[in-house]
Amino acid sequence: MFHLKTHIKICATDTCCSTTPCSSAELFSSTLKLIAAAQCCLTDDFVSDEIKDKDCFDFIIVGGGTSGNVLANRLSEVKGWNVLLLEAGPKPPIFGSIPQLSRNLARTKYDWNYVTENNHRTSQALKTGQVTWVRGKLLGGSSVTNAGFYVKGLKPDYQRWADEGNPSWTPKNIFKYERKAESLQNEALKNNPLIGKNYGSNGQQVLNRYNTTRIPVHNLILDSWDSIGIKQVEDTNSEVYNNRGYCSPAVFTAADGIRYDTYRSYLLPADKRNNLKIVTEAFVSKILVDENKKAYGVEVTINGTKIQLFVSKEVILAAGAVNSPHLLLLSGIGPKNELESKNVSCVVDLPAVGRNLQDHLRIIVPIYGDRSQYDNRNERKCAPENVRLPFWLRDLPTAILAV
Ligand SMILES: Cc1cc2nc3c(=O)[nH]c(=O)nc-3n(C[C@H](O)[C@H](O)[C@H](O)COP(=O)(O)OP(=O)(O)OC[C@H]3O[C@@H](n4cnc5c(N)ncnc54)[C@H](O)[C@@H]3O)c2cc1C
Repeated sequence: MFHLKTHIKICATDTCCSTTPCSSAELFSSTLKLIAAAQCCLTDDFVSDEIKDKDCFDFIIVGGGTSGNVLANRLSEVKGWNVLLLEAGPKPPIFGSIPQLSRNLARTKYDWNYVTENNHRTSQALKTGQVTWVRGKLLGGSSVTNAGFYVKGLKPDYQRWADEGNPSWTPKNIFKYERKAESLQNEALKNNPLIGKNYGSNGQQVLNRYNTTRIPVHNLILDSWDSIGIKQVEDTNSEVYNNRGYCSPAVFTAADGIRYDTYRSYLLPADKRNNLKIVTEAFVSKILVDENKKAYGVEVTINGTKIQLFVSKEVILAAGAVNSPHLLLLSGIGPKNELESKNVSCVVDLPAVGRNLQDHLRIIVPIYGDRSQYDNRNERKCAPENVRLPFWLRDLPTAILAV
């Protein structure tokens, strides 16, 4: 049996939890090679559109991120509708499309650079007790800066939403639209009768697995998870495995070595439509609401000038889990007493705005192996000295890093 000892308090010198997957020299040289080889397929001719004060559209979408880009594409399929997409950040840089490199967008101008408050309970291994909370600020939003795992929602959650009064969110309906959105590229998964039927193949969201080479130590770690009930399965998105367990490699929003965020999957294919305008570096600071409590436009700052834009149908808020409620509050939509305590006059008293945030945990866990166990099993090639360790772990000869 392979013994594991976990140790959670790891980085007391910085507020950053991120690790680098290989040596910097290796990362640098492979990056140069990739960029040189891939320039042609990664560049695009996107240019921000021009708009002027008091322009009117059928729909204004606030936030050109993960969901905003999907909406911009779908709504502008209807030729008679004029759609405007407003994004606070710029278009993504080339390296946003390169797996592993896109994580370097964190804490740059492509990130909102949020940190959490110290709650004196969690993240106390970090000096400030504050966690860096990456939120993409660019076309594609957090779909450019995220890890790219394609993880489907669970049936019981959708059923609950339907039961709570949202009939179009039944699992059956969601499944239909998931399949419509998906374009699974992986032949092995497609041809597996238990898995292939769970995915669509003609949608716009490209999906595949990365080519992965497992070093022996990976198998040891996965076997140890298996022994504590976290089972290795072919595909965690497939019902046959009850959506539980761990699969390696997983399904990603990527193919052919390129990340397919929603900028690449949804926005670029719609960019040339005459009825879609996309404006970058456009920060929306207010939703305009009339006396009947109906949104009729937005206030937005572009190139340092604040203008007003109007809608005939809807303002759609797709600014993410932090900024959407923030913008509602700035517009006077939220809990009355809290708004008034900040001298914001209340337009609509909605106590739930800014509540019920849910997020997933991320814990970095160094794993220490007992070297005699490797020797006993005659698996010296798996011993940690053959594993490339991050520099700060090289003094700890038995340490292996897992995330
Ligand atoms: C580090 C990290 C890793 C993750 N890994 C995964 C993963 O592997 N798999 C997965 O499924 N999910 C992952 N997620 C979660 C996933 O990325 C998010 O849930 C999803 O991208 C949120 O989409 P969204 O459309 O709600 O917001 P976003 O994609 O963040 O889009 C919001 C957009 O609105 C813009 N905006 C905000 N305010 C304004 C304003 N006032 N005016 C104009 N524009 C504005 C922002 O700049 C942004 O572009 C990860 C998230 C992070 C941060």
